[in-house]
Amino acid sequence: MSVEKIEALVVGAGQAGVAMSEHLSRCGVPHLVLEKGRIAERWRSARWDSLVANGPAWHDRFPGLEFAGDPEAFVGKEAVADYFVAYAEKFNAPIRCGVTVHSVERKAGSAGFRVETSEGVVEATYVIAATGPFQKPVMPDLVPEGAGLVQMHSTSYRNPDALPAGAVLVVGAGSSGAQIADELLTAGRRVYLSVGPHGRPPRAYRGRDFVWWLGVLNKWDAEATPGAEHVTIAVSGAKGGATVDFRTFAARGMTLLGRTQGFADGVLTFAPDLAQNIRRGDENYLSVLDEADAFLARNGMSLPEEPAARIIGPDPDCMTNPVLSLDLAQAGITTIIWATGFEQDFSWLKVDALDAQGKPRHQRGVSTEPGVYFLGLPYLSRRGSSFIWGVWHDAKFVADHIAKQRHYLAYRAPGDAALVSA
Ligand SMILES: Cc1cc2nc3c(=O)[nH]c(=O)nc-3n(C[C@H](O)[C@H](O)[C@H](O)COP(=O)(O)OP(=O)(O)OC[C@H]3O[C@@H](n4cnc5c(N)ncnc54)[C@H](O)[C@@H]3O)c2cc1C
Repeated sequence: MSVEKIEALVVGAGQAGVAMSEHLSRCGVPHLVLEKGRIAERWRSARWDSLVANGPAWHDRFPGLEFAGDPEAFVGKEAVADYFVAYAEKFNAPIRCGVTVHSVERKAGSAGFRVETSEGVVEATYVIAATGPFQKPVMPDLVPEGAGLVQMHSTSYRNPDALPAGAVLVVGAGSSGAQIADELLTAGRRVYLSVGPHGRPPRAYRGRDFVWWLGVLNKWDAEATPGAEHVTIAVSGAKGGATVDFRTFAARGMTLLGRTQGFADGVLTFAPDLAQNIRRGDENYLSVLDEADAFLARNGMSLPEEPAARIIGPDPDCMTNPVLSLDLAQAGITTIIWATGFEQDFSWLKVDALDAQGKPRHQRGVSTEPGVYFLGLPYLSRRGSSFIWGVWHDAKFVADHIAKQRHYLAYRAPGDAALVSA
């Protein structure tokens, strides 16, 4: 069987793979990107129909190309995918679609890696895993199949009409759960939403979008805090960009519940933590306003004041009299949507770059296996790493690292020629 040889192999052509290819091209590194689906496949087929980008077009993009149209708009998911296709065309990215990488192993006795793909073997000196921050849906094993309900992960949700008639329980109130629950409520569904700990930043404040505040407050560059609890944030670009406010959802008729805890005999039980979770979300929201005000005062910047943003609505009945158990049949619930997050799967990467739990071991994407890199992971280098604009900067760092390695390997000491000819 013929073996294809390439210096750098990028696995995955989402935004991370496209950015990686651009920077490798800039550094003159011959490379190939293998993608099992299409470019930006997950934007096309692992997101619901109405999803728009979480940040405005002026921000959620790569430096080298603007979105057509209103820079303040929140671009739809298909247009985001089209953007990456256009971006890749711009520099003729060597992307091969429809090819799955099955395994990567270090070559015995020589440098580089042997890569088994659905279309044969590739040998590469460098391998960059750009297979996504959110790879495998996670659904708790709580409600058994056959309980007379449709259950799905948020990646499989498409739109309200695709669900059976009846009430819907959405579990998880991060960005996905909050947006899906809101869409179902707007479509006239009876909606229950199980709300865990979360942050819910303002979409905009004093005339500036949240992404701008994250920028000027230097929070996109925040590094992960080891051991700190990861709290999901509920933020949305839907409806032209509106702050997620669970109290408003309740006022519109949604029933909020605490964290989903158990299931027996058709009855789901919930932790008595709803009020605490909502209040902490409010505190997080208000703390962003405080930091924003302090920034403006310190820098002598005058943006229009917005006192109304500080008004927190009244506690809804579901907060003061929490529902701790719910008979699904009695409540008319026919669908549960688990917006409960994702895990990563690097089982195909059979090299010394993973810990005992299969988690990547790396610093800023440079793994513990020389020649293997990660890109696009949450907090790979900082908060922005898994987002569109942030991954581009991480890709630059990784490409520069590879360029430096090539430089060392290309070095020949004065005596080398004599050694070779001896
Ligand atoms: C619901 C949702 C909304 C989001 N909205 C935003 C947003 O508005 N703005 C923002 O900045 N970020 C957003 N994100 C976060 C992030 O931008 C996306 O998750 C984005 O898809 C990540 O890009 P990526 O290239 O790192 O990974 P992915 O898009 O997941 O791309 C990885 C690619 O690798 C391919 N692949 C995987 N395994 C293999 C293999 N073995 N062989 C070959 N190919 C393989 C996949 O097919 C896929 O195309 C959102 C995330 C979610 C879940």
